[in-house]
This record gives sequence, structure tokens and C-alpha cells, in this order.
Amino acid sequence: MTSFLRFKSLLTVSGALLFLMALASCGNQKTADSSSEQSTLNVVTTFLPITLFTEAVAGECATVTALIPPNLGPHDFQATPTDIAALSNAQILVKNGLGMEYFLDKLTDSAENKSLQVIDTSRGVAVIKSDDEENENGADGSDQNQGEVNPHIWLDPLRAVQQVENIRDGLVKADPGCSDGYTKRAAAYALQLKELNTAIASQLKPFRGKTFIAFHDFAPYFAERYDLKADFVVDVPEMNPTPADLQRVSTKVQQSQLKALLSEPQEGDRSFNALAEDLGVNVVTFDPLETGSEEASKKPDTYFTVMKSNVASLIKSFGG
Ligand SMILES: [Zn+2]
Repeated sequence: MTSFLRFKSLLTVSGALLFLMALASCGNQKTADSSSEQSTLNVVTTFLPITLFTEAVAGECATVTALIPPNLGPHDFQATPTDIAALSNAQILVKNGLGMEYFLDKLTDSAENKSLQVIDTSRGVAVIKSDDEENENGADGSDQNQGEVNPHIWLDPLRAVQQVENIRDGLVKADPGCSDGYTKRAAAYALQLKELNTAIASQLKPFRGKTFIAFHDFAPYFAERYDLKADFVVDVPEMNPTPADLQRVSTKVQQSQLKALLSEPQEGDRSFNALAEDLGVNVVTFDPLETGSEEASKKPDTYFTVMKSNVASLIKSFGG
């Protein structure tokens, strides 16, 4: 019994030590010995692109944890008590914004974390309304998104630069001791994004003005950046396409002479495949980066790998 108590008090002491170590902030212990430095800024991100951008900026100055498991898309997310606990313990929450994380307000209320600072990566980013003329032509006349802003800004590499800069600013403000690191890493990642944009622009130049059809409404920012037109099958991914949706897509494919329909990795939609077969076109993948493997979510370069592969798919869909 005594030895058990002693063991228990030892645990308590080491627990308290760990807690004290965790209290010392990155800024306060700016030492040359950075390899053994305990990173202490506790940052929670929402979904994949936000996690990738935050990890790219955070480096070793902060611990980044994704709220939504990377294999789950934000459109399908159901919060659990664990998510509330994650937010209770976090210092920073990074979100895409523009209503993408519709579940967050309730969660942050439940977490009752008064000191939680929220970085909205969409701050200052030019937005596209969900009800632009393009979508009003929808055969089903659906107006459920009327007046809302399309949240998929990360698929335009130059808007992604702004998101990265917003993350940088938020982290620098919260943790000025690591300011140099955040600034340097954000600049390096932003440069990579700008180079990616230049490369995509030149690859897609021959296809200017062409229409492509994505599965859900994720592509307007990407399309706008590269002078393309994006149409979509369904508004949100969990919806199944209606016969009217399929009819509309069929007409569009014939008008635009598309050689392939663009599917999403997590959709594997049978009606989409059947439609492609009927139309005599292929199905290729355009990954909106809303989900990914655990491993991919740890590597900020995932953004570049996936976008390059998306562009290759798109070129295929144009018959290039
Ligand atoms: Zn989406």
C-alpha cells in the first residue's frame, strides 16, 4: 500500500513537472538548443488544407493537431466530446472560415476556453458568392446556397498564400518569441505556392475558357484563377445526384466536349461512373483536398503533390 502511494506521488510529481515544462512558452525559452526544446504552442486546426498550411508555418514552434480526422471531410463532420476536450486545451484554433466549419461555434461554446485565439484564414480573401450566374442555370433551380459565399478558397494557390499569411500573423501574435521562424517558413511556403500557380497557369493556358465539371461545388476559385469555367453535379458531397443533376451534366459534357468527368477520391460515385459510361467519357480524379491519409496530413508538401495531379487530370478531361 505504502509503495503504491509512493509510486502514485512520484507520478503526481512527474506530472506536475511535465505541466510546468508545458507552461514555459516557446518564446520564453529561446535557447540555442532547439532540438530538445519543448514546443508548447498548442494549435488545433480544422481540416486538411488548414492543417497542411499551419504545419508549414508552425515548424517546431508549435504542436499542430487536426480536429477533424484527415479521412473525414468537413462537410460530413460530426463532433464528439474528444473534440471539445481538444479545444479546451488549445491556445490557437485555425479555421478556413466562410462557413466551411459550420459546426465550430457550438463546439467552441462547449469548450468554454476563454483564452482560445481563433485564426480565420479567410480574412481579407476575395470571395465568390455561391449563387453566381453560373450556378443559377442549374436545372433543378436549387437556391439553397443563395447569398452564401463559396468557402473553397484554398484551391486557388494565390488565395492559399493569403491564408498562409493569416496563419503566420496569428502565430506571430500569439508567440512572438518564434516570430522569425514563423515568418521564414511562411515565406518559403508562399513562394512554393506562387511557383505552383505560375506552373499551373502555363499548363492550363491552352484550355482557357473551357468548362469542366466537378462532383461538388469546390472549383470556382480554381476556375477563376485559370480562366476556366467550373460546373458541378451536386451542391454538397453527401448528396446523391438526382436524375435532373445527371441530365444537366450530360448536356454540359456534350456541349463542352469534355473527355472525362472529374470525380473525388472519397466519392466513388456509382451514378457518376454509369453516366460517364453512357456518355462515352472517362472518370478522372480531382481531389479538393478535403480529406487525405493521416500520413499525408503531416506533410505540408501534400498540397503541391495533389494539386499537380489535379491539373494532370484536368488536362486529361479536356482531351489534352
Ligand atoms: Zn467542399
